[in-house]
Amino acid sequence: MASLPGLSREIFGNVSAEARLLFYGLSCLVVAVLAQAVIRRVRLWLRGRPESGLPPWRTIGRNLWRLALLQRRNRGRTSAHAAHLLLFGGFCLLLLGTTLIGVEHWLAALWTPAGGGPVFHKGLYYAIYEPVLDFAGLAVLAGCAFFAHRRWRQPRTSPNAPGDWLVLGLLASISVTGYLLEGLRILREQTPLPWLSFVGAPLAHGFAAAGLTAAGAATAHQIAWWIHAVLALGLIGLFPYSRLLHAIAGTLRLAGGPVRLGNLRPVSIEEVEATGELGVTRIEQFSRGQLMALDACVACGRCDQACPAHEAGQPLSPREVVLGLRAEMDRTVLARSPGHPGEGTSDEGRDLAGEVVGSPALWACTTCSACAEVCPLAVNPVGFLLDLRRATVTASGLRGTPAQALQKTLRAGNPWGMSSGERMAWAAGLEVPTIEENPDCELVYWVGCAAAYDRRIQKVARSLVRLMRAAGVNFAVLGNREQCTGESARRMGDELLFQELAGRNLESFRKHGIGAGGKRIVAHCPHCVNSLRQDYAQMGARLDVVHHTEFLDDLLTSGRLAVKGPDGGNAAAPLTYHDPCYLARVGGGVDEPRRLLRAARQGAPFTELPRKGRNTACCGAGGGRMWFDEAPERRAGRERLAEIEAAGADTLAVSCPFCLVMMTEGLAARDVTTNVRDVAEILDDQLQSDSTA
Ligand code: SF4
Ligand code: SF4
Repeated sequence: MASLPGLSREIFGNVSAEARLLFYGLSCLVVAVLAQAVIRRVRLWLRGRPESGLPPWRTIGRNLWRLALLQRRNRGRTSAHAAHLLLFGGFCLLLLGTTLIGVEHWLAALWTPAGGGPVFHKGLYYAIYEPVLDFAGLAVLAGCAFFAHRRWRQPRTSPNAPGDWLVLGLLASISVTGYLLEGLRILREQTPLPWLSFVGAPLAHGFAAAGLTAAGAATAHQIAWWIHAVLALGLIGLFPYSRLLHAIAGTLRLAGGPVRLGNLRPVSIEEVEATGELGVTRIEQFSRGQLMALDACVACGRCDQACPAHEAGQPLSPREVVLGLRAEMDRTVLARSPGHPGEGTSDEGRDLAGEVVGSPALWACTTCSACAEVCPLAVNPVGFLLDLRRATVTASGLRGTPAQALQKTLRAGNPWGMSSGERMAWAAGLEVPTIEENPDCELVYWVGCAAAYDRRIQKVARSLVRLMRAAGVNFAVLGNREQCTGESARRMGDELLFQELAGRNLESFRKHGIGAGGKRIVAHCPHCVNSLRQDYAQMGARLDVVHHTEFLDDLLTSGRLAVKGPDGGNAAAPLTYHDPCYLARVGGGVDEPRRLLRAARQGAPFTELPRKGRNTACCGAGGGRMWFDEAPERRAGRERLAEIEAAGADTLAVSCPFCLVMMTEGLAARDVTTNVRDVAEILDDQLQSDSTA
């Protein structure tokens, strides 16, 4: 490295002044086209509803680093993650390297250092720059090869639209012509330490061995230079008109962080009263972030692969929902934008719910959030569907059993339509205190409508009460003051009904000191837990809510609840566990139920289902699907039943009343004798067995 001070290369070497001028002219044109297209796209996003403020800058920086640059959302898909890292990282390095070349050129033109020569593109910087850029080109080529191979082999999950092939071809051609250019330059200039360019140097060697002279290399270099330049400018110009748009929209989307699963867009009743609008009927009624997310989608189809409704053959494809809305955004909003050929047209667009997203697709969603969890660009298809549901329900567009469930909830405060006077029937003989009878309780047990009115789920509530009693927990229930949380109603689009129910419950909470800093709430329904945590927070409540598996796990680990040894005759009976979407994926409750099952059924063979934890498969009941009259063999969750059947377990443990009902019905329809039980019931069995031992 003794010659480092003299180490550099000429920029725009072998390129005439006229050619440079033409290149700069073309570059300005392409950048202007790009800027105009990007500005039009950003203006389009800004037509959406404003959202609450940006996250703190530090969070944005962390999101960009982790989610965009390191592509963390592709983790777990080893080869795809590596290919994304190589392609995106390599592309960013090449872009940075080219920009630095431009900066050097302009600096050198504006300010010639003493003795002439480069400003910073020399010495140690150059010795690092050259191999890094060569590596970046290889990374891009490797990424292109992976995606070309995948598109060729799996056209169904990645539609090989001609535009996609064009982008891949351009990226690969730019890298290849870059290397050819480098080899020709080394041969022509006799660059010092040519092996720093570890790809270009062997090419230069090969050209020389093939008899190419320095003069011939100079001519070939000029031709290759123009081909390389035109390809690179073409790629830049193509950015906003191809899937490369996701590099801009997706990066901005990821800067906002991952989707908050289970969280719906808040609705302000004041705004509804002022505008008379609830939900989305026109594309501009989506939020700005949602419109940007439509452009972020790369149509990869991972959401379709994860969607339980799609898996069961129902007419729902989250990818098509997103792509359909994006096409409608382009067709209606962009067409009316200033400067667009369609400016001033009066096209009001198609019905979003009904035409763009068909009614069967709209109502097939279980709100399981699997699509949002797997989306590499943090797009949330379920958010779009729920906004459309809100508008549909507001326009009285829901019929049949789900509409009846909403009417019953409105009339009686629960989807069963049963009287509030019967709300404590589940506790017969248990002497469960109400909050009026035990105002000094340490926590409130939120029973939920299913345990109040469904005979099978009542047993879960009774087991939980026995367990709390055994642990000496001082608890109470709201009794017939408890109303449905409104969770199903909200996810079926009936925001007004939800807000009315939540308002009544919050009034009871306030009256009895339930909330953060006050009494804690335990619930055995993950849907109730999520609603109380996230939906009620949007109503201004700060509640301390815990799922019964988390609570029981705390009791067990703190020693307040003692469960000894195996469960007698059932000790060796094989067991499996189904993770409910709203507990595992939305709430992150994965380990607690398993710890409880281990404690309760020590020695029993435990089989994990193929899809488990956050990657669980939906039972088909969420999002109000519980209230749709549908045969088990047609429901979302059908394939999950096949997995449970294949596990061959004696007992299927669950920790959600909806899952318990769906799995019991589904397995019975398949003549499978697996016993479906809540984790609390299994723990209670053990407790009873201990006390009689
Ligand atoms: S929404 Fe996300 S997962 Fe679905 S196709 Fe688009 S980018 Fe892929
Ligand atoms: S939330 Fe679940 S059911 Fe709904 S579109 Fe997404 S994956 Fe499909």
